[in-house]
Amino acid sequence: MERGAQTILKPGDTVGILGGGQLARMLSVAASRLGLNAHIYSPTSDCPAASVSERLSVGAYDDAKSVLAFAKTCDAVTYEFENVPAVTAKAAASVAPLRPGARALDVSQDRLVEKSFLRAQVGVDVAGFEDITSVHDLRRAVKRLGLPAVLKTRRFGYDGKGQVIIKTESEVDQAWEVVAPLPCILEAFVPFEREVSVVAARGLDGQVAAYPLTENVHRNHILHTSSAPASNDNGTAQSIAARILDHLDYVGVMGVEFFQMADGALIVNEIAPRVHNSGHWTQNAGCTDQFEQHIRAVAGWPLGEVTPKQGVVMTNLIGTDVETWQTLAAEPGTHIHLYGKREIRADRKMGHVNRII
Ligand code: AMP
Repeated sequence: MERGAQTILKPGDTVGILGGGQLARMLSVAASRLGLNAHIYSPTSDCPAASVSERLSVGAYDDAKSVLAFAKTCDAVTYEFENVPAVTAKAAASVAPLRPGARALDVSQDRLVEKSFLRAQVGVDVAGFEDITSVHDLRRAVKRLGLPAVLKTRRFGYDGKGQVIIKTESEVDQAWEVVAPLPCILEAFVPFEREVSVVAARGLDGQVAAYPLTENVHRNHILHTSSAPASNDNGTAQSIAARILDHLDYVGVMGVEFFQMADGALIVNEIAPRVHNSGHWTQNAGCTDQFEQHIRAVAGWPLGEVTPKQGVVMTNLIGTDVETWQTLAAEPGTHIHLYGKREIRADRKMGHVNRII
């Protein structure tokens, strides 16, 4: 059993958060609402979470000594991103309960491990995939999976980064040049009808609570809108999410992304062992929001209500979209969430709005 595996936090205790971005910022606010203190660990001091947290430690993510010193001040440690190095997770877990645990990181950091876990251990459908370490592997895999197919780096891919779509045989060598020499997977292209996700939480006692199905639309590979509750929600996606959480003996909130086919079948695309952009709508839906839900789970508290009282469409504010804040602020039924990032960059998530429908 991990250190402090059954520890329950009380008001006044400290939740450590690895990462200082917008997700950590919203987690910090939720922690403070529950009377808990957030201690942020981030490589930079001017990160979005810094201004709303009790304490900030600045250090590199792979500096185990510095992470150890940080974790010693915490009653539990969590994270806002899945690429926490194994050495860091191990250091933190040696002195405080790490929730979710290190296994969730191992599984979600590497697309090959993740897809193998989902297919072989959980028994859910994923797109056909092949392990690729050379252009020879790639040529062979293209023959097996067919085209179109998507070549993706096994690690550090997000928002479409580190992936190339291959449409014809003539593009195979060129696609390899884009990602080589990084280990990759080739994934069969899924002709989905829509993309949906489920945000689900599992408490320290093993109780699972999943929010309704959310329908997601991407623009330029970045999430544009999330609408909830989505149509035709028969609970299947939530049962799949619950199975994944149970398999990992998970504590906290997880985002599970799916491709949905025309006949309704669900194919798991990926899992994120953290609060998720497609769950931001929960902040204004009249239920417990995903940030509070995560903190409740991490603190060992009972999970909150997941049934929304109203429908919500979340729209991300990317880059200069945020400059329309005055107009957005004047819209009735629109809730604005800005992340306090000083520099606007193209493709940078600057905030989001939740519109009640
Ligand atoms: P990912 O980073 O794997 O979530 O991919 C980003 C986006 O690319 C997804 O949300 C899909 O819109 C698209 N995509 C990724 N993999 C596939 C696939 N195998 N088939 C069809 N579309 C895909």
